[in-house]
Formats: sequence, structure tokens, C-alpha cells
Amino acid sequence: MKNTNVQIIKPEVSRRDALRLLGMGGLALGGLSALSPNTLGQSATTPAETTGHYRVKIGDFELFVIYEGTITFPIQAYGINVPVARIGQLLTDNFLAAGATVSQPINCLVIKTPQGNVLVDAGTGGKAGVADGGRLIGNLAAIGIKPSDINYVIMTHLHPDHIGGLFEGGAATFSNQLIFKYAEHVITKREWDTIDNPSPGAQARPAAIQPFFTTVLQSAKAALTNKIRFVQAGDQIIPGIEIISTPGHTAGHISVRISSGNQELIHLVDSVTHHVLGFAQDLRLLFDEDAPTAAATRAKILDRVATDRSLVMGYHFPWPGLAHIRKIATGYEWVPTAWDWAAQTK
Ligand SMILES: [Zn+2]
Repeated sequence: MKNTNVQIIKPEVSRRDALRLLGMGGLALGGLSALSPNTLGQSATTPAETTGHYRVKIGDFELFVIYEGTITFPIQAYGINVPVARIGQLLTDNFLAAGATVSQPINCLVIKTPQGNVLVDAGTGGKAGVADGGRLIGNLAAIGIKPSDINYVIMTHLHPDHIGGLFEGGAATFSNQLIFKYAEHVITKREWDTIDNPSPGAQARPAAIQPFFTTVLQSAKAALTNKIRFVQAGDQIIPGIEIISTPGHTAGHISVRISSGNQELIHLVDSVTHHVLGFAQDLRLLFDEDAPTAAATRAKILDRVATDRSLVMGYHFPWPGLAHIRKIATGYEWVPTAWDWAAQTK
């Protein structure tokens, strides 16, 4: 039933502009740098430090989801094979604003263990024109963690909103200097090899955003060649932190299982990229580099976590990104976890 009472938020960027920025609709390409937070009408307000982390216990491990920022893409990026109206209807049906763009948080994760501190992905570093980011270091400081305190960095894949925050550098630049310089950086070899041999899906990205991807990949290569530890499915970074292979979003994309005692958290990372649109099986996402593989991976991991009733995390799910997954007639849906206030106050 169509809900005519839903107020559609007036977009700050017109649909035509959004498509143009992604090089869609047969229009000329524009610079994605034009997608700055201000042109997208986002607030530049920095949230209070107390909202920058969320604490959760998994057995003996103490975990913190760390807010890095918010990333915004034209709505069409969430379904390049369907009319925009289909995406808008899904958003409206789920009480979300159906404007020209979609904004999502960037949720980093720190796991404190007796064997060291593990960081899973590092956000944009504030360098992406599409993101209002760069809050990882400040929000880590608020819980007493300095960059030198990070012992392991899990790089789930090489997209700029996941590895941009690993490198020093100001706006729109990435240096070859590592921020977490005492940490062992881990990634799959399959993913690392895409730096020199990008997948067809990566090569098909809109030309306007390719230089941004290329820049961060070259920083990664310069900073981390011969320093990387390669991992594969089933490997444990330290006992209780296990790599799960979830290819498709990128060739060597991984998810992470964190387990201690009889509890577990499956960090889906970008195997499901949106808490509503990522579950719609007819949508093909722009940033899934191999869409059929991504769909097969999604089906497999969602079946697993729904069957096991696992706590899951999504890198771009609404803050703080924690949920369970429920099987429904049309597929799956996310069920956000209730805010655990007691866990925040120790
Ligand atoms: Zn991402």
C-alpha cells in the first residue's frame, strides 16, 4: 500500500546532478570532489565525543565501534540496474528519506584483547570528497587509545573509505606514512594483487572517481609493500579473531568473526553495504565489483548468521552498526540491537 503521507525530503543535489556525478544517464562526467559535505547539505557539526564510540563485550574481549564519519553517494549508486523510483520506494517503505543521495556512517571497530589491540578498517581519514570523515583518531583518543597502541590492522578490502585513514596526509591527499606504524597490517593476497591487476568491475567505475581510488592504492603500495601479512579464510589474527572470505564487493574482500567464550560477533563489513538496500536482491550496487559473486556471498553469509542467530556488525549500518539478521519471506532483514546503556558505563 502506498503511503501518501510520507514527506519526501527535498534533495540538496538534484537527481540529474547525482547521476551526472556518477557518470550515469548519458550525461557528462562531473568531478566527484563536488560532492563535498557542504554541497550535500550535511551538517559539519562535530558530534560530542561521547557519541563517537560504542562499547560491547564479546566474552573476554572488549570491543569499541568507533565513529569515523558519514559517507554520501547518489541514490543511483545503490541500484545501477533499476529505476531510481524503485530505490526511493524501498527507502520510503522503511521510513527513510528518499532524496537524491543516501548517507551512511563509517563504523570502525577496535577489539581489545590480552594479545593486543586489533583495528578493523580505518575509514576515509577525512580525505574523501564523498565523506564527512576523519574522526577515528580523535574518537580513539577519547577511549584512551593512541595510534601506537594498535597492534594489528585488518584491511578488509582496498576501498578508500576503509583504508584512507591508514595514511598520514591532509585534505584530498594520502602520504606514504602509516598512522598505525607499530601495527601489523593484514589483508588477503587476492585483494592486495588487485592494486596492479584491478578487477573488471573496478575498471568500470565512473572515470570521475578513479583518480581517488588510484591515489590511495598507490599510497598503500608504497607504505606497505613487504610489510603486509597475507591472510586467508580460516586464519586467526590472534586466537578468537578469524578471517571469513566474502568476495564480490571486491575480489579479496573479507569479513571477520570475533569469538570468546560462547559469544560471537560476525563483522559483515561490506558484504552487506546498506541496512535496507543491501538486502534487496534485485539491486545491483555500483561498488560491488563482481555483482553475481557478491550476491552469492551475501546469500551464504546471511543464511549463516540468521541460522546461528549471530550478533552482526555492518561497516555502514546505522550507528553503532550492530544487529541481528532475520529470515523473512522475501529474503532477510536487519534487526538493530537495543542500545545497551549499562555496557557503556562499565
Ligand atoms: Zn565501504
